[in-house]
Amino acid sequence: MRLTLNFPHRALVCVASALLGLAPFAAQSQDAPKQDTHGIAVANMDPSVKPGDDFYEYSNGGWIQGTEIPPDRGRIGVFSTLDDLSNKRTAGLIEEAVKANAPAGSPTRKIADLYNSYMDEAAIETKGLAPLRPHLEAIAAIHDKHELARALGESLRSDVDALNNTNFHTANLFGLWVAPGFNESEHYAAYLLQGGLQMPDREYYLGDSQRMRDIRTKYQAHISAMLKLAGFPDTDTRAQHILELEHAIAEKHLSLAENEDIQKANNPWKQADFAAKAPGLDWAEYFRGAGLGSQASFIVWQPSAFVGESALVASTGLDTWKDWLAFHLIDAYAGVLPKGFAEGRFAFFGKTLSGTPEQRPRWQRGVAVVNGRLGDAVGQIYAQRYFSPEAKAQAEALVANIIAAFRKRIDALPWMNPATKAEAQAKLTTLYVGIGYPETWHDYTAYQVKPDDIFGNLWRGSLFDYHHDVARLGHPIDRKEWSMHPQTVNAVNLPLQNALSFPAAILQPPFFDPLAPAAVNYGAIGSVIGHEISHTFDSEGSAFDSKGRVRDWWTPEDFAHFKAATARLAAQYDTYKPFPDLSVNGKQTLGENIADNAGISAAYDGYHASLAGKTAPMLDGFSGDQQFFIAFGQNWSSKTRENTLRQQVMTDPHAPNEFRADMVRNIDAWYPAFNIQPGEKLYLAPADRVLIW
Ligand SMILES: [Zn+2]
Repeated sequence: MRLTLNFPHRALVCVASALLGLAPFAAQSQDAPKQDTHGIAVANMDPSVKPGDDFYEYSNGGWIQGTEIPPDRGRIGVFSTLDDLSNKRTAGLIEEAVKANAPAGSPTRKIADLYNSYMDEAAIETKGLAPLRPHLEAIAAIHDKHELARALGESLRSDVDALNNTNFHTANLFGLWVAPGFNESEHYAAYLLQGGLQMPDREYYLGDSQRMRDIRTKYQAHISAMLKLAGFPDTDTRAQHILELEHAIAEKHLSLAENEDIQKANNPWKQADFAAKAPGLDWAEYFRGAGLGSQASFIVWQPSAFVGESALVASTGLDTWKDWLAFHLIDAYAGVLPKGFAEGRFAFFGKTLSGTPEQRPRWQRGVAVVNGRLGDAVGQIYAQRYFSPEAKAQAEALVANIIAAFRKRIDALPWMNPATKAEAQAKLTTLYVGIGYPETWHDYTAYQVKPDDIFGNLWRGSLFDYHHDVARLGHPIDRKEWSMHPQTVNAVNLPLQNALSFPAAILQPPFFDPLAPAAVNYGAIGSVIGHEISHTFDSEGSAFDSKGRVRDWWTPEDFAHFKAATARLAAQYDTYKPFPDLSVNGKQTLGENIADNAGISAAYDGYHASLAGKTAPMLDGFSGDQQFFIAFGQNWSSKTRENTLRQQVMTDPHAPNEFRADMVRNIDAWYPAFNIQPGEKLYLAPADRVLIW
């Protein structure tokens, strides 16, 4: 589970995200939170707001009032400031690769060729639809459901990730995730997840509000326009049928909150069982098409969706399925087709869905493409250049302090039995923490990149990733493998590996500043580190034992207590309403909220341990504890467009940032630090504060 909003790097979605203006980076913004001094950013606060009424506004109000969201973004904030920096640096490294004229086949040459092929808009216009044509012809040549099953299998990619980077969306019929097995965690297993929708979530198809109905009308127009551009006749009728099919698929989908339930997801199916369990699709042909004919077993994340979607393959007309395949192909690659396609896709997914008026400049989208397809190749250079051994050592010491604080908290829990405590401690003992960059780098030797073929580069890239993942099915796992790159401003817990990664790009100011007071470092990066550690013990992580297996290691009383406490936290987040007609989903965001709750608690303990009994120095008139909590609140400074925020509330496991900052109301030490009194809006009576770990 990742720390914050993120958009998948490995899949083609990366390009789509860049086109949407969602990819979290951009150039030199002047509006980002400022970090002129070493400590909390006092100028970003709003002292006219009482901390007990709105802690997020108190910590960030000054910055919010003085900031405009640039027209090419859905949001801006402290994460995007660092993304800007990381991407400027990455762009510089790419520029060096371009100038190097490195030997063909070398990683440096691949970086240069991939970037140049994306930037060469004239070549893209000249080629027109030619790169797409063989694929459209193959779809047109499908003449029965048997061949359809094969084509659906051929479209399978490893483009979903249920527990690490948490991405449950694929527009292909299903998605493959290769990860350590739920029940046998020493080897890689094949997880299959629901898919088939082009819009981000079932809610966009099923929601009854006028807003959702308008989006569907515009989506149908978008489908028609894209097919028309590709030369299809009768596109209005085709678009109507495609939308009807996706609507029917959406009805079979589980919600994100349901997807996060590990017990419901642990469904081992033999390949031979699929035909009987989920009749409709010709499964043998599907798996042959996917190159998985000899894979004996799978874990099916949402059995009911597989039953429903498979039945739809049988009950829906062949022509509709062919149009659906063609439209999905066109939309997926629109960003590297002639201008009309790219603009058409942005008009719907960028403007309509996210509310972002303008696309990012092309060079920024080019950096996103390189990060998406060759992230470790450029990341290896990034880590050498921008992450010093001193920074690594300091960050490692911080992590060790917070793990030690977490251990003490577990030992001190009054409600937990010794046997459960022992297994929790064992999980911390086997936890592997990666700081800055991975110990081994992804090998891109088999990925062929050509200087003038962006469509082929992306097509081969997604197949390269897929083949890489399929090839390791059944093989021993690499517990130290990363799912992010060093240049990514984020952090992640990998529950099946019992591992954490803190990329180099987040280990810098304002999150981590060796010159800042301890209060600020513990409140900022310390709470991030605590957040990732405590994913080990959140509503999902707690289902895995110290070896990463799904195993019930809790005593029944302890688990009952844990369930009750987490239900109270879910209920607390259910009450938050970013819009009058849209509430935060407490269940969908529970794992992340538990991690924030426990993360800030452990960071606070780590901070006080670091003081070794001394009183923290005042700075700018703020006590040590005040600085700690304000630094935590400032982690979440951001401004988000309405449609982008609505999309997040519906499709992301993270609550909106303002409610993440308000987590402080559950922490006892916050009350005396700011003299919070009953009657203030965030005030909770001691019995109503939720403390889990
Ligand atoms: Zn998280």
